[in-house]
Order: sequence, then C-alpha cells, then structure tokens
Amino acid sequence: MKHYHIAVLPGDGIGPEVTAEAVKVLDAAQKKYGFTLNYESLDAGAERFQRTGVTMPDSQYEICKQADAILMGAIGLPEARHPDGREVNGDVIFRLRFGLDLYAGVRPVTLYEGVTSPLRDVSKGIDYVIVRENVEGLYASRTGGCNVRGEVATDTIIMTRTGVSKITRFAFELAKKRSGRPTDGKSIVTCVDKANVLSSYAFFRSVYDEIAEQYPGVAKDYAYVDAMTLYQVLSPHHYDVVVAENMFADIISDLSSATIGGLGMAPSGDIGDEHALFQPSHGSAPTIAGRNLANPIATILSGSMMLEWLSDRHQDDRLKEAAQGIDQAVRAVLRQQHIRTADIGGTSSTSQVGDAVAAALQSEV
Ligand code: ATP
Repeated sequence: MKHYHIAVLPGDGIGPEVTAEAVKVLDAAQKKYGFTLNYESLDAGAERFQRTGVTMPDSQYEICKQADAILMGAIGLPEARHPDGREVNGDVIFRLRFGLDLYAGVRPVTLYEGVTSPLRDVSKGIDYVIVRENVEGLYASRTGGCNVRGEVATDTIIMTRTGVSKITRFAFELAKKRSGRPTDGKSIVTCVDKANVLSSYAFFRSVYDEIAEQYPGVAKDYAYVDAMTLYQVLSPHHYDVVVAENMFADIISDLSSATIGGLGMAPSGDIGDEHALFQPSHGSAPTIAGRNLANPIATILSGSMMLEWLSDRHQDDRLKEAAQGIDQAVRAVLRQQHIRTADIGGTSSTSQVGDAVAAALQSEV
C-alpha cells in the first residue's frame, strides 16, 4: 500500500482546531478506502514567531518541500509583525507559494444545499472555481516595493508570458475536467482583468486569448474586475472557471466566499507542477479561537482537494474515491439542518461538525 507523507501546519488561532477536524475526516477516509497518510506536524506560524523570532525555520521548509502534499490550517496573528509592519504570515505562505512555485490558487465556490446564501435568488446554483495566479502580479512586489523618504511609495506589477500562459492553461485544463456551469453545463473560462486601463492586464488578456485558441471546446469570456464584483452578486450561475491576476483574484475570492455562506465554507489549494498546499481560504480568526466555534468545513474540503490532487499525481484511484466520499459526506451533513456551526446559522461546535462528517463518511455505501 502506498504511503503519503503529509506536512501539516496547523498554525495559529482557529488553525489547529479546524486542522484537527480535517485530520479526523482524513483518518476516517484512510480506514474506509485503504490508503495511508503519514502526517508530520510542524510548529510554524505567528505564535512561533512571537516565541522564537522565526515564523518557519529552514528545516521545516525543507520538510514541506520533501512532502507529498502540505495541509495547512491558518497562519498569522494581527499583532505578529515585522518591524516594517508586514504580518508574519507571508514568511510561511509566500515562502511556500514562491519557493515551491505553487502558481495556481484554486478556490472552488460552491453553494451547498442547506446553506443559506445572502443572495436573494440562487435558484440557478453557484458552482464555479476561481483560479488565482499565485506567484506574479502585484503581490510579487511584496518585499521589493520602494518607499522614498516616506513620501513616495511604489509597487510594481509583474506579468510574464510564462506565468500568464501557465495559469490560463491551468484554468482551461480545469474547465475540461469539470462538467461546466450549473445552468447549462457549458464549459467556459472567464478572464478577469482591467485590460481597458492598464497595459499589464491587456497583456494578461492577450496571452489568455492565445492559450484559449488551443481549447476550442471551452468558451471564452471576459469581465473587468469592477464589473465582476457585480456579476458575482447578481449572476454567479454564469461562471464555470474564472482566471485572474494575483491581487484581483484575492479580492474576488473573498466576495465569492460570502455568497456561499462565508469564509468557513471556502476551501483552497495552492498548486504547482511538483508540489501543492491545501488550506481553508480563511485566516486565523483570533476572536473566535480556542472556543470550539470555528467552522471546519473549509479545511475538511481542502483535505478532500488534497486527496484529489494526490490521486491525479500518483494515479491512485482510491484517493479520488475518498475525495468524492468526503464531498458527499459534507453534503449529507449540511442537508441536515441541525449540524452546523454558528457562522452558517447553527449551534454545533467545531468538533461536532467534524464528528458528523467522519460518521457520514463511514456510513456511506
Ligand atoms: P487573513 O488576513 O489572515 O486572511 P482575515 O482578516 O481575512 O484573515 P479571518 O481570520 O479569515 O480574517 O476571519 C475574518 C472573520 O471571518 C473572523 O472574524 C470570523 O468571524 C470569520 N471566520 C473566518 N473563518 C471562520 C471559520 N472557519 N468559522 C467561523 N467564522 C470564521
């Protein structure tokens, strides 16, 4: 039986609580589908920074690099900062994203039956994926911007042909694997940019157009980022796969999560050609930490995404079955209105939700 080495970074705030529930569900999946995950838990994060002055030592970075996949809770605390004001979470998440070339940020946006959306009419469904360019764009300047005499500050947006080609190709390949948008099953990749104002985004769009030529079965679609925020609220059923530059995708991802029940429902994967990291879209939410209140669903679904990615990489069908099993178990739990955390209108604890998903997985036929 193949064993998979998983580097686990529970992190800060609610990170350890939601990670424990994801591991609980992954353990149930191992028993049911017959595979082995060897976890290696790492003490990285803001709390470690406060204790030792180092957020993630090099030795831990190497462990992440050697692992088959990385599972993360949440890193960062608002008060843990470098002298220049930057929060220390970038020491981990940016280091891993840039160091391991995790160029594709994959954020599924799915409204599950039984979860209330703040949108008035969701009868046509919400089921799309945002693909975020993760290693270029404006955030590539995160430590390279310039500040002159405290009077002038600049950051430079980075767009390379290689980077934009890779991310748009990733989006089209993903669209080929999916069954299209919820209304009519049409496969469509929407390019979100500001090509009408900035030459960098016009370049992004031109490369997208070149790549799209190679995918005649997938429809092209465009939206300017400002209009996109409107469409995400008024017609989210229109979308299948959405691709965007790093900062724009960061912003529209938070909006998308609000439409499906909040950050506690939004999983994500940071995926490269050789490595991948899976974590909920939310941060460490320190105000609710340590109280068994956090919604673990986003982290549980991130664990499911991890199995799916490992399955493709290692041609191991059991892992794909397990990923689908976890998704079905989450759906089954959410359909029963009585098990859910407070953020989505319930009174259950973090661990009760994890227990319910693990039990639903075990009882599935
Ligand atoms: P970061 O900048 O680190 O991504 P953030 O500023 O976006 O963090 P979060 O830590 O994600 O903030 O939390 C924002 C708010 O969302 C929290 O105060 C909390 O109320 C809510 N929230 C986030 N995640 C969860 C969760 N898993 N369960 C319940 N509520 C959550």
